[in-house]
Amino acid sequence: MTRILLLGGTTEAGALAQLLAGAGCDALYSYAGRTDAPRAQPIPTRVGGFGGVDGLAAFLAQNAISHVVDATHPFAAGISANALAACTRTGTPLIALERAPWQQGPGDDWHHVADTAAAVQALPETPSRVFLAIGKQALASFAARPHHHYLLRLVDPPQGPLPLPNASVVIARGPFDIAGDTALLRAQAITHIVARNAGGQGASAKLAAARALRLPVIMIDRPALPQRQLVTSPGAVMAWLHHGATDLGV
Ligand code: NAP
Repeated sequence: MTRILLLGGTTEAGALAQLLAGAGCDALYSYAGRTDAPRAQPIPTRVGGFGGVDGLAAFLAQNAISHVVDATHPFAAGISANALAACTRTGTPLIALERAPWQQGPGDDWHHVADTAAAVQALPETPSRVFLAIGKQALASFAARPHHHYLLRLVDPPQGPLPLPNASVVIARGPFDIAGDTALLRAQAITHIVARNAGGQGASAKLAAARALRLPVIMIDRPALPQRQLVTSPGAVMAWLHHGATDLGV
């Protein structure tokens, strides 16, 4: 019996859920529970962490999961490492669905950094207006440079004081478009953008807007993950499932 656990929280996971539902697959979508109102899915969903590698391995056994698809965000390195470890331990075939990273093109002024701490260091000494397009979990690191003004774009309104003294907030959920992001950067007089190389269409508009406005982008590269079987399209996951999916992902 095929029973699929889809680790989600991304646009790609939603697209795969549509394909799985359309094909009548027995599949369960898992959300971490980070947003107040996660998008509805066409397959059954569960919400919340599993409790590390041990918890996930136990969940796979208890729920008779035969295949795991890790379609989490490229920067969600913890759950991806846990999925690989739990699948290796239980002998459960695993595939990762991950969108391709963005590539720098003509007219882009990107400054690559390895992580959030390096992005903080890459900001200029002079007071600047910085668009932090990095999600809420990494914001606090920028408190080390309090002389900048930060523009934050968050999915949910913050529930308490922001970790940054000098910040304004826009509440919005992607996908975003170039005209809208160009207008936002102009209206907020943004001088620098800090972005993570998430890839995909939904959040790429800010990069095109930065190119048009000739703004520098401090680009945080993806975290390194252990080697696993990786595809970049939901259709490729369906092909893997249809063709036996015997690879254990290691
Ligand atoms: P993370 O650091 O890799 O994961 C931290 C913990 O959250 C994991 O150890 C796990 O808890 C739980 N978790 C993560 N994804 C889960 C899932 N799909 N189902 C059940 N539990 C999950 O992840 P993160 O960066 O906090 O991201 C959390 C979720 O938000 C991910 O599902 C990701 O796809 C989504 N997301 C993240 C980003 C981002 O920028 N990081 C952006 C968009 C969406 P236990 O150890 O208790 O199992």
